Amino acid sequence: MDIKKLVQQMSLEEKASLCSGEDFWHTKAIERLGIPHMMVSDGPHGLRKQDLKADHLGMNESIKAVCFPAGCAMAASFDRELIGRVGETIGNECQAEGLGVVLGPAMNIKRSPLCGRNFEYFSEDPYLAGELAASHINGVQKRHVGTSPKHFLANSQEHRRMSSDSRMDERTMREIYLAAFETAVKKAKPWTVMCSYNKINGIYASEHHQVLTEILRDEWGFDGFVVSDWGAVNDRVKGVQAGLDLEMPASGGINDEKIVKAVRDGVLEESVVDLAAERILNIVYQYVENREEHAVWEKEADHAFAREAAAECMVLLKNERGILPLDKAERVTFIGEFAKHPRYQGGGSSHINSFKVESAMDAAKGYDISYVQGYDLARDVVDEALINEAVQAAKHTWVAVIFAGLPDSYESEGYDRSHMHLPKGQEELIRRVAQVNRNTVVVLHNGSPVEMPWAEDVGAILEVYLGGQAVGAATMDVLFGVKNPCGRLPETFPLKLEDNPSYLYYPGEGDVTEYREGVFVGYRYYDKKKMQVLYPFGHGLSYTQFTYSGLRLSADSMRDTENLTVSVDVQNTGNLFGKEVVQLYVAPQTTGVLRPDKELKGFEKVALRPGQKTTVTFTLDKRAFAYWNTEIHDWYVQEGEYGILIGKSSRDIVCRGIVQVHSTRAIPKHYDENSLFGDLLEDAEAKKVLEPYWDKISTALGGGADASDAAKEAISEEMTLAMLRYMPLRGLRSFGGDSVTEEELQHMIALLNER
Ligand code: BGC
Repeated sequence: MDIKKLVQQMSLEEKASLCSGEDFWHTKAIERLGIPHMMVSDGPHGLRKQDLKADHLGMNESIKAVCFPAGCAMAASFDRELIGRVGETIGNECQAEGLGVVLGPAMNIKRSPLCGRNFEYFSEDPYLAGELAASHINGVQKRHVGTSPKHFLANSQEHRRMSSDSRMDERTMREIYLAAFETAVKKAKPWTVMCSYNKINGIYASEHHQVLTEILRDEWGFDGFVVSDWGAVNDRVKGVQAGLDLEMPASGGINDEKIVKAVRDGVLEESVVDLAAERILNIVYQYVENREEHAVWEKEADHAFAREAAAECMVLLKNERGILPLDKAERVTFIGEFAKHPRYQGGGSSHINSFKVESAMDAAKGYDISYVQGYDLARDVVDEALINEAVQAAKHTWVAVIFAGLPDSYESEGYDRSHMHLPKGQEELIRRVAQVNRNTVVVLHNGSPVEMPWAEDVGAILEVYLGGQAVGAATMDVLFGVKNPCGRLPETFPLKLEDNPSYLYYPGEGDVTEYREGVFVGYRYYDKKKMQVLYPFGHGLSYTQFTYSGLRLSADSMRDTENLTVSVDVQNTGNLFGKEVVQLYVAPQTTGVLRPDKELKGFEKVALRPGQKTTVTFTLDKRAFAYWNTEIHDWYVQEGEYGILIGKSSRDIVCRGIVQVHSTRAIPKHYDENSLFGDLLEDAEAKKVLEPYWDKISTALGGGADASDAAKEAISEEMTLAMLRYMPLRGLRSFGGDSVTEEELQHMIALLNER
């Protein structure tokens, strides 16, 4: 289809009409020109295709579908390939259901554990979030169905989400909040991007020209269409101008009319509307022309895959005395309603109408497992009768497995949590059961970290997150060793909420949310502060062991334009098949710029049989060493040494190397009277300019030519230099008497800037 030609045939009204939805879930059709509509649907971890009554909060029914693990869980897999396969499966479901775009992945940065939507998001780390989002997008789009990475940008809280203003500095925006989207856009070319509800530094995301056009399109090369989050449009005309192509859902024609009027009034160029229409049609036809009419999806097969995926995401946080895996012959008691009715997804627009849910008890046939309720989800109180019953049962069993977690009401789209605790009844239950049975295992169902004041008391903890509709069966697989746990935490579990770097500023005052912790989000903060955490970023145990050796770097010195290859050998030195997530962190040793101690710049998941050894190789390019420099408004590598750390988590570094990186880019310098001698002396060329004046300068700053010999002697050269560091050039005038004349000072400055 020649889209440009098609747009030329359209009236202004028709073009404007394309810029908003036909209804809740469709783009507009234009019969006169044979333009079809296209249906979109949430997303991201399954289909929420709604037929009649539509809403964006997951309240009305949608078709029966398969709920895969939510983003929080998928991220814990640290597995690009798995996420790609899940994406492809969802893409196939879309083809079978006639959906052109599945809205997601949701990929906002987990700034605070309180964000109600963390369960949908991937990580506190932009590298991880970006890589995983790219895999999801590539997977879905392989099936010629579009994606919509969301919510662009800085939508890291639900509190006042439609009016809050995320305020942050340029470097934080680039290094943390934009970076994940940048990777997703560059690596996977999503068909669409969804802009968020909030403002960014005072401007609604839906009207943010810099974000939607200058950065997204001009810098990153995005060529799909930008869609508003449902209801995120404030001023439609400003939105079109800023690069927001499609408004969703429908605005009853009101905003279309505003677009037409703006063009007629000369406020908006018609070519801007042409472009929006063209971008939308490009995608509609990309879908229509590649439609797989005969695609079918098998719910049971996808359910089986959801089970496999869920097991890959589980994180074994603790396993004292090797309590896990359990032996099928042992008497085990399952405690807690989640064993029968697992919490496997979160509330809101991602809510899937699962065609079936498989609980751990459903999958327990053939095992010697008894069940007690333990707590009452509906009442959220300490229920002595239920706890006593559980304690009695736990006394007479080899292992007590408590299925704990957050109830639906605790975390959802639309609002944030106010604390990080489990319900009181569950906390008390865990404490009391652990008192009578040291083999207490806690299985956690939650979309975001919880505090675990009981962590020391229990034998093992398995974090299953919100693992999708097959989570119960997958939990059985992991508990009983059919599957070896291989998930890793995509976020830090702090000891307590108050430890989190955003704590003082979250969720802000009124509509203003200042991201004052800057780039120190998650482990970037905890590691820099050397704080004790409950479980660090990247942590996760296995039923087998892995041993690392032979770290090799392709160079010990390189230019920032070159790549560094890093390889390390990993061996399964235990007795079971297992998967290890090899993590690479870069640790700048440079000074002068505030940087995290280390940042994740590579990860690979490897599967190894007992005894098997493999080599994992990473390639690091400039970005692995760079930070966002606000003088040149670009990525910049400081000259200096960088540690190359291989870790099992951000806190368990097993191999270290070092590389010297030479910067190939000079940052233009300008000097004036307020420039400090310390900075000048660090600049080799500036130092040269100052050399002829050096005697005069030291005389001047030693108190001037009139200073007494005693005074001069009291100050060693070293001291003079140390004091000089923070002295501005104009100090020569203030303290130097007439040792350096005004003309000489000005001449010096001129020479310094001449280079
Ligand atoms: C959510 C989006 C979702 C949209 C459509 C909004 O409320 O923020 O993530 O895709 O609704 O349901």
